[in-house]
Amino acid sequence: MNKILCGVDIGGTKCSIALVNEKGKILDKIHTCAHIGKKEQELIKVVVENIKRIIRKNDLQESDLPGIGMGFAGHIRFPDGVIITTSNLKGFKNYPLREAVQSHFEIPVILDNDANAQALGEYKFGAGQGYNDMIFLTISTGIGAGIIINKKLYRGMTGTAGEFGHMIVEPDSELTCTCGNHGCLMACACGMALPYLFEKKLKEGKKSKLNLPPNFNMSEINGQLLKKGLEMDDPVSKEIILDSGYYIGLGIYNIFQALNPPLIVLGGGLTNWGDIYLKKIKSTFYELARDMIFDPIEITISKIIGDAGVIGAAALTLE
Ligand SMILES: [Zn+2]
Repeated sequence: MNKILCGVDIGGTKCSIALVNEKGKILDKIHTCAHIGKKEQELIKVVVENIKRIIRKNDLQESDLPGIGMGFAGHIRFPDGVIITTSNLKGFKNYPLREAVQSHFEIPVILDNDANAQALGEYKFGAGQGYNDMIFLTISTGIGAGIIINKKLYRGMTGTAGEFGHMIVEPDSELTCTCGNHGCLMACACGMALPYLFEKKLKEGKKSKLNLPPNFNMSEINGQLLKKGLEMDDPVSKEIILDSGYYIGLGIYNIFQALNPPLIVLGGGLTNWGDIYLKKIKSTFYELARDMIFDPIEITISKIIGDAGVIGAAALTLE
């Protein structure tokens, strides 16, 4: 029988539980929002019940699975599966999530940061196949990343390696990151920065073709709206997309100098900005790296089809 993997992606707005085949294709998936606003013990109950449900629903036994992989947005102490911090869900500070879920199952439960899980998913099932080393960056509301070295996730001593979103790219920036520092890549170049950047352009006197109503709530400026702006040839949207591309290119240059990877894969919602975005990322990188590139490096978009979070979580059970 082909291997069936189980992945759980616990996010701030939804929790997905899926069975995935060994090619990374989702066989069955459950979404729930029942975990939101719940205390730790109740969240565990929601997660455990849904894992058991999906196993039963597909006529499987727990022992048919190699394990249960869980991805969680936050700092995870990988060796003991403890959530150190998370900004997406209340509570959970220094919480032993892996142990709590493990106590309900015989098969191994693995817990990792969601971006690490996605990096591994990309490596096993997506653009990373065939490589020994790669970097994965996911660019959406925030920026997450994962490092594959020698066919394995590199996690560092705690498990928090690859927090490239907190790499400082503009120390004098007015933009404050969720970490409290100024000018982190995440603060300058992803979803959370878009309302500020849009307003700033308007204050500079630039005119947007998006024609937002006067009472428009600027916090609703997001990647999708700017994509619409781009299609309308809106100069403000285009400038922000290019600025973001510049910062991501700069970040990739720094990563390249530190790790010299042959492949960088970009995922996350903002990659939907398409060619113009990827071109700016690449041109910035190549301008900075100039003659310091001695072997080809590929910068490409994620090849994972479907829910990358839950597919990545399932990939954790293949490690
Ligand atoms: Zn930061």
